[in-house]
Amino acid sequence: MMSMNVCTYEPDSPHMIEMLPRVVNLVVYYMALHYYQPMFTLIGGGFKKLEQASREMGSVLPKGVHWIRDSAVKFDPDNKRVHTGSGDQISYEYMVIAMGVALNFHLVPGLVEALEKDPMVCSNYSPKYVSKTSKAIHAFKEGNAIFTFPNTPVKCAGAPQKIAYLTDWHFRREGKRERAVVMYNTSLPVIFGVKKYAASLMDVVKEKGIQLNVRRNLVEVRSDKKEAVFENLDNPSEKITYQYEMLHATPPMSTPEVLRTCEKLVDQGGFLDINRNTLQHKKYPNIFGVGDCTNLPTAKTVAAISEQLRVLKKNLFLQMEGKALKPLYDGYSSCPLLVGFDKCILAEFDFDGEPLETFPFNQGKPMRFPFHLKRDFMPHLYWLALLTGYWDGPGRYRKLMHLGMGR
Ligand SMILES: Cc1cc2nc3c(=O)[nH]c(=O)nc-3n(C[C@H](O)[C@H](O)[C@H](O)COP(=O)(O)OP(=O)(O)OC[C@H]3O[C@@H](n4cnc5c(N)ncnc54)[C@H](O)[C@@H]3O)c2cc1C
Repeated sequence: MMSMNVCTYEPDSPHMIEMLPRVVNLVVYYMALHYYQPMFTLIGGGFKKLEQASREMGSVLPKGVHWIRDSAVKFDPDNKRVHTGSGDQISYEYMVIAMGVALNFHLVPGLVEALEKDPMVCSNYSPKYVSKTSKAIHAFKEGNAIFTFPNTPVKCAGAPQKIAYLTDWHFRREGKRERAVVMYNTSLPVIFGVKKYAASLMDVVKEKGIQLNVRRNLVEVRSDKKEAVFENLDNPSEKITYQYEMLHATPPMSTPEVLRTCEKLVDQGGFLDINRNTLQHKKYPNIFGVGDCTNLPTAKTVAAISEQLRVLKKNLFLQMEGKALKPLYDGYSSCPLLVGFDKCILAEFDFDGEPLETFPFNQGKPMRFPFHLKRDFMPHLYWLALLTGYWDGPGRYRKLMHLGMGR
């Protein structure tokens, strides 16, 4: 997604339609490639290649956008300025911050070294390490295959367990499941934050014989001894060490330093402090936020962003026209939980953890159809419709599918 979008416009434009062509967009970005990250689970699972998940950044930016190949190094919201890595200062009238989250592998001692040196230590979270996962799955012989979930907010909270289910599937196919302990160690007290889907996932865990350990946080990796050390979050002085044959690590995450350290813009956890229904910054009305870097209390996913973009578009223009904003965002997010090669639970929910299902069948049941949606349809939806501004979430289709009833 875009990282930081600095827009200027001329406020005397009478109508939005006339105003649109006069909006000047500047995007400050430093990555040369844009990744469709939801595909990383399928890459780690061996069903797609990394090349299929990336495009040149320049090719996905909309026409008329001025791309500044630089990074934001300081925000100065009182003076409406952003300082960049090359020493420039950009002034703005309105700003949308969409910087995502940083992957902090370095905060777990020994993890970076293990990822660099040990072919059996991998992570779907980084394009650098994701291709190691399927190789490790196939090279696995016997012992513990450990999957971790850190003690921080993460993007796609389902991804750390999806790869455990795909690994279980491969192990069975390759006839080595009986020699493996597939272990999911999560810092959370439950397997998933939404009750309905947590119940379905617990059935999956039981059926597959996966060892689930809650409140376990990875604090050290000793690759020379093939040991992973966890703290018990209910009793932090207690450390539990497991021998691993394969380790899939989900790193601790935070907002990028430039945002985290700008106290005027963030909440106590370092996330962009915005109104959860309008996406407008709580102190600076000319700043909006979208995506993983915000403190929206919902799951951090592309699916959530698709709905957020609709609200952002509406409210940014209302703000520019000096009109009252509309509290439109209900926290919609979604996570296609692959529970095997051809089965998926399509979780969709709101801020309160209430299901907001698009299809008129029980999406809590593992089914084949959502698997094909995830593998075959969603990548096209992303490249062709979301990045081009034509897809703004399934809201209207949900109503249609439910014959106008429900939310
Ligand atoms: C393994 C995995 C599986 C996932 N599965 C799913 C799924 O099934 N469904 C789903 O909907 N979502 C899924 N997601 C989550 C989804 O990919 C993210 O929620 C989404 O990409 C977040 O978009 P974003 O724009 O907020 O952040 P990002 O996509 O991370 O973009 C942030 C951008 O900001 C740039 N940036 C950062 N700092 C600076 C700076 N200082 N200056 C300039 N630019 C900067 C970065 O370079 C980056 O380009 C998954 C993610 C992963 C990793």
